[in-house]
Amino acid sequence: MYKDMIGRRFGYLEVKEYVYTKNSHAHWKCVCHRCGEEAIISGANMRSGNSRGCAKCRNKIPEKIRNKIRQHYKNGHTQVETAKHFGINRHTVRTILHEQKS
Ligand SMILES: [Zn+2]
Repeated sequence: MYKDMIGRRFGYLEVKEYVYTKNSHAHWKCVCHRCGEEAIISGANMRSGNSRGCAKCRNKIPEKIRNKIRQHYKNGHTQVETAKHFGINRHTVRTILHEQKS
């Protein structure tokens, strides 16, 4: 059953390999396709939809991606469409769009 997870995608996470089981939850090494980093995440969190990116991405969206989000919005997509496209919530999109460039 553990093998079934390998190669699956959950949001930005792609499951690479099994790492360990803690509190009867299997943990997996994943590649986060949003930032390119590797992260270890519990399979239960991914399956429930709680983890769609690595912890870093959840806390902070890299500048590279923020630029893409602004561009996507400028290209005529609504905030809702932009949020959906990047797998983030609308509030985050709005925050990014309102950021002042220094
Ligand atoms: Zn990430």
